[in-house]
Amino acid sequence: MQTPVVLIVEDEEVTRLNLVSLFQGEGYDVIEAINGDEMNQRLADTKVNLIVMDINLPGKNGLILARELRQKEKIGLIFLTGRDSEVDRILGLEIGADDYLTKPFNPRELTIRARNLLSRTVAQPVVEEHKSVVTFNGWTLDENSRNLTSPKGESRRLPKGEYRALRLMLDTPGKIFTREQLIRHMTGRELRPNDRTVDVTIRRIRKHFETDMDTPELISTIHGEGYRFVGHIDKD
Ligand code: CA
Repeated sequence: MQTPVVLIVEDEEVTRLNLVSLFQGEGYDVIEAINGDEMNQRLADTKVNLIVMDINLPGKNGLILARELRQKEKIGLIFLTGRDSEVDRILGLEIGADDYLTKPFNPRELTIRARNLLSRTVAQPVVEEHKSVVTFNGWTLDENSRNLTSPKGESRRLPKGEYRALRLMLDTPGKIFTREQLIRHMTGRELRPNDRTVDVTIRRIRKHFETDMDTPELISTIHGEGYRFVGHIDKD
């Protein structure tokens, strides 16, 4: 069964990253865009099932983008806005948004509405309960504290970038993540030319638990593609 793809369109980084984590936690494939141009690029590259879009965007705003979108294809669309404006709400729904939430929105409400909308259009993913602690090869990674704890019980708090990259790989063992996907998940920005941020971060992550850096056992490098977790997730 194919996992539904959710596209987040939001220029504010913190909100965008929160939305990405929220939908990833619900088991969806999530991609992101910071404006209309990026949104159209993503739509050209990927079959998207649901768009969650902020109305207040730099360049073309969400209302204009939705109108353009509706002339081309039918994708589930949920609007978000900071303004509690009746006009926006009515315009948004008139243009063809399927639903509408005002910021600050309740994350649970948003995912329920998204699920309802997607259930009318595509099959749902098998949702595994989001775990705040992941245990692998005797190590534990805690979402709340970002603590990585060794099999001997020694803890250290990971910087956000290391935590995010490791957690992404742990959540889908065996899946190859490209540098583009990793940098987006770690920082919310795109990969730049000669950008070594991902490689440096992976090296730092490996240093925590690999005994031999030349033959890493938990995170392997797939040359020309990216990285993946090849260790063992311990079931509780
Ligand atoms: Ca915005």
